[in-house]
Amino acid sequence: MTIATNAYIALQDAMTRNDPECQDDGRFILDDQPADSLAYICERCPVLNLCRTYAAAERPKGGVWAGRRWNTKETQ
Ligand code: SF4
Repeated sequence: MTIATNAYIALQDAMTRNDPECQDDGRFILDDQPADSLAYICERCPVLNLCRTYAAAERPKGGVWAGRRWNTKETQ
């Protein structure tokens, strides 16, 4: 398995146990939603570190992960 796959499995397991706020918030998958407007939710998320690890490995093309988008050269 790849690093991204392992990270995704760990994240999914943690999300199942912690039910992060993004699960019920459709803004996280909207292409025109500014990531900055959702970052405050991620900052208090119990699985933030796992989410960031996955996103850094996979660089998802869509959505907001760990408070930012990963399909650009944006750094935070
Ligand atoms: S850090 Fe943000 S995007 Fe990642 S699981 Fe938590 S709320 Fe969702």
